[in-house]
Amino acid sequence: MNQPEILYMVVPCYNEQEVLRETAEQLKNKYSALMSEGLISRESRIVFVNDGSKDQTWGIIKELHEKAPELYSGIDLAHNSGHQNAVLAGLMTVKDICDMCITMDADLQDDVNTIDEMVKKYYEGNQVVYGVRSARDTDTFFKKFTAESFYKFMKLMGADVVYNHADFRLMSRRVLQELANFKEVNLFLRGMVPLIGFQNCKVYYERHERLAGESKYPLKKMLAFAVNGITSFSTKPLKLITTLGFVMSVASILAFIWAFIAKIGGFTEHGWSSTMCSIWLIGGLQLFCLGIIGEYIGKIYAEVKQRPRYIIAEFLNDAENKQEKN
Ligand code: UDP
Ligand code: MG
Repeated sequence: MNQPEILYMVVPCYNEQEVLRETAEQLKNKYSALMSEGLISRESRIVFVNDGSKDQTWGIIKELHEKAPELYSGIDLAHNSGHQNAVLAGLMTVKDICDMCITMDADLQDDVNTIDEMVKKYYEGNQVVYGVRSARDTDTFFKKFTAESFYKFMKLMGADVVYNHADFRLMSRRVLQELANFKEVNLFLRGMVPLIGFQNCKVYYERHERLAGESKYPLKKMLAFAVNGITSFSTKPLKLITTLGFVMSVASILAFIWAFIAKIGGFTEHGWSSTMCSIWLIGGLQLFCLGIIGEYIGKIYAEVKQRPRYIIAEFLNDAENKQEKN
């Protein structure tokens, strides 16, 4: 290996005051080790993106930066923009000043010790290294079940996502620059990155329990995220509606023929209940299908407005300030 290259970490933070200092400490130790092994350059940095936190998170980030400006820096978003947008704000800020970049959650659920392996895989020529969970022992049954169903459903719907991979991944500068060409407002990074291509690999890690604080992904947000993932990467639900409509139409013609024969033959005993059932069934299906179509129309609406995906209020580091273009 020649010169060690520059690694930037991008860590989105939303109300993470309980855990942030510990995260910073663990990353600092990891950086020191990697620097002394000559695996990463001394210009490498850790960038915390404050996603409109309501607690002391931004204050802690500023404090970390003041103590060690050569290591920690921070970006303050003007309002809470969501995890994916916060990550993107970080990535677009560092895309021209790093050689490689790792995105990681602030709660230490992703294993800091996997960073070594990711960096090594990068030097082996991989442009993307996906962190994949090998065990989900620490998740509740409910979280495991919903996550499994999500990946299975995504696959069924034809969207290409890496199984059990969230947003813990390394990307090279080249990949970040390609990512900058994706202008969509409805972000789903784990679907977008595989679309970019290039040589990639997976590294496996055990996902820990959140060190402190609470999950910012309650069921409602998780469902919204899953629906966003599917509708952003697949039009299969729309095609399914057509198939469903066709099957229902054929079935209703058959039912009509049967009703006609029964009437002529004088053996009608079809009554109120069957009529009601079919009305409810068809009504329900129609509403469901309209809902799916509405989901796509809503997305088109959000996309055509082309609103900025995040707004940056403050940079702690001048070099980063000059780089970022939304
Ligand atoms: N996060 C964020 N903005 C949000 C919600 C979450 O930047 O609106 C960050 C959060 O601070 C954490 C990461 O995204 O670093 C993942 O969130 P969390 O751990 O709550 O999700 P979970 O692991 O429970 O799915
Ligand atoms: Mg978490």
